Amino acid sequence: MTSNRWQAVLKTAAFLKPYKLSMGLSLLALFLTAGITLSLGQGIRLMVDRGFATQSPDLLTRYVLIFLLLVVLLAIGTFARYYWVTWLGERVVADIRRKVFAHLIELHPGFFEANRSLEIQSRLTADMTLLQSVVGSSISVALRNLIMLIGGVIWLFITNIKLTVIVMFSIPLVIAPILLFGRRVRVLSRQSQDKVAAVGAYVGEMLGQIKTVQAYHHQAVDKMRFDQYVEDAFLIACQRTLQRAWLIAVVIVLVFSAIGMMLWVGGMDVIEGRISGGELAAFVFYSIIIGSAVGSISEVLGELQRAAGAAERTIELLEEPSRIRSPENPCQLPAVAGNIMFQQVCFAYPSRPEIQVINDFSLAVRPGETLALVGLSGAGKSTLFDLLLRFYDVQSGAVMLEGVDIRDLDLSDLRHSFALVSQNPALFHGSIEQNLRYARPDATDMKVEMAAKAAFIHDFIVSLPQGYQTILGDTGLGLSGGQKQRLAIARAILANAPILLLDEATSALDSQSEDQVQQAITRLSAGRTTIVIAHRLSTVIASDRIVLIHHGRLKALGTHTELMKSSNLYARLAASQLQTSG
Ligand code: ADP
Repeated sequence: MTSNRWQAVLKTAAFLKPYKLSMGLSLLALFLTAGITLSLGQGIRLMVDRGFATQSPDLLTRYVLIFLLLVVLLAIGTFARYYWVTWLGERVVADIRRKVFAHLIELHPGFFEANRSLEIQSRLTADMTLLQSVVGSSISVALRNLIMLIGGVIWLFITNIKLTVIVMFSIPLVIAPILLFGRRVRVLSRQSQDKVAAVGAYVGEMLGQIKTVQAYHHQAVDKMRFDQYVEDAFLIACQRTLQRAWLIAVVIVLVFSAIGMMLWVGGMDVIEGRISGGELAAFVFYSIIIGSAVGSISEVLGELQRAAGAAERTIELLEEPSRIRSPENPCQLPAVAGNIMFQQVCFAYPSRPEIQVINDFSLAVRPGETLALVGLSGAGKSTLFDLLLRFYDVQSGAVMLEGVDIRDLDLSDLRHSFALVSQNPALFHGSIEQNLRYARPDATDMKVEMAAKAAFIHDFIVSLPQGYQTILGDTGLGLSGGQKQRLAIARAILANAPILLLDEATSALDSQSEDQVQQAITRLSAGRTTIVIAHRLSTVIASDRIVLIHHGRLKALGTHTELMKSSNLYARLAASQLQTSG
């Protein structure tokens, strides 16, 4: 293992620290059960030699009672071990999950562009499952078997050296082929799972696109491809089954021949009086224990290794530094009126460093004004919002809020200054009320209702059977575009931030919704500094000033009438790009 991996394993192990008591109890139970299992062998020996051989019913009864007592202790120990070890696994993984999530949600957005969020999700689920099974069972299995292996070997040596040597030689012979087949079965099982997953993914994709599939009359091809997937899965499953059948047969032959051999050699010794029958029985018992211990240890070794990989990935995720952080000693933010300055800002997205998205961009926003950003798609308008909210840092120049560089501000102060209404309003699974309270969980019911009224959405909400408690599907399923926008506006009104960032929807609404949305926006921006990415002519005309952005540069600045005269590009844009009605 690489040193990184070792460190990751150690760091993951540190999650066990708070649970010393549970660890102690687990270890205690572990030693108890292993010890009892080992002593069962002695119990068998006594039972055979003293009970059966002496033909004394009293002795036999006594030894059977001792045996039963041991079994009861074993059961109690196993119960405690199983409970505490599994508890540890679940607890530790719950802690890791919480820590990873708490870390991820604070990471700079750029991180999720370089690392697909799907991959991170799979890390969170698959790696956690692996870690859980390792902490919650494999480690204890390995440890228990190790104790039994060592204990068993010691007992064997004490009992009979000649037989022990035979056993030591035959165990690898028995175990090796079993491991070999076992490994093949595991590889094939994994392949088989992949194939089955591929079948599932194919079905999912095709059913998701069923209209396209049928519109292009593509069913015959899809059927053929799907048949191929299914047959692949079947072939692998057959191979796996064959190997497994072999495995079972081999296990039976090897294990029982080994036991037979031992019985033969040992039986000869018993006949010749070199050892007692009980010793032979105990011997067989220990050999089986040792054999199965070797088997289980080599089984879990692979899993421990994979878990080390999982630990490494998890720790990597946990140690990923957030590039966007509050400074150590943040500046005090004065009362926010909306004084925003872009000073010669240059910016390229970290995922595409060679493309300058914002180029030497300077602009002073006046408090209280409504400023419209216009430009072709891809000009860099949304990027300006990203920079204002400090989702990314500028490469050169600075963004200032109330005269303070936003990099010197506490992130929560900075972001509390803005309310964002995006083009596709982000609604979360939950009730309408919860969605409205997103920025202000503590707002009174009155305030929530007032915000909804101001956004012209109250009447619609109360017309729903469950009113404010109506549950929205994921991403606001079950609402029209206009309703979603008005909800988002109500949320922003409730947030009551001094600066409003508005990304106007490009999608057309019917004229009634359009009117309502417009009125809601007018109310929202009253008394606030508003920056709006405008897609409608009416918005541009109503705004105080307009900024024309072209390829990340400020091309023109002024009122609609001024720009119509002074800028060709603007005149063309107004004529062709901006929407004149809903
Ligand atoms: P607008 O809002 O004016 O349509 P954007 O600000 O969204 O333009 O995009 C400006 C440019 O930046 C585009 O060329 C776009 O492809 C690029 N861009 C936007 N977001 C990212 C991103 N996360 N990573 C890399 N490039 C991006």
